[in-house]
Amino acid sequence: MEEPISQCPQCHTTVRPTDYFCYNCGKNLHAKPPSVTPVSQGLLYAGSLLLPPLGIWWALPYLKQPDSRSRTVGWIAVILTVLSLLLAVWYTMKIVNGVTSTVNQQMQLYQGL
Ligand SMILES: [Zn+2]
Repeated sequence: MEEPISQCPQCHTTVRPTDYFCYNCGKNLHAKPPSVTPVSQGLLYAGSLLLPPLGIWWALPYLKQPDSRSRTVGWIAVILTVLSLLLAVWYTMKIVNGVTSTVNQQMQLYQGL
């Protein structure tokens, strides 16, 4: 976990940890925090479910945020990504098993004749 910035790295003016820009020189002290509006959350969660590996990637900026709300959003995205991956694996196994048992049945029918 990074220490909150209390001094501008550029002009060394003392700034509040909550400031996003140095009021003296205008330096961006934190990268702009990822949006936590319902729309961006919806997009993030949908992306996590539909494109599982990318969900982790998208969740990372949220997890790096100091506020718990952004981190919660990030963790939900991570959990959805993992669930989606598990579901994909389960579904694939189910299809593979289905195909295997169909093939086995066909083989038994063939052998029975
Ligand atoms: Zn500054």
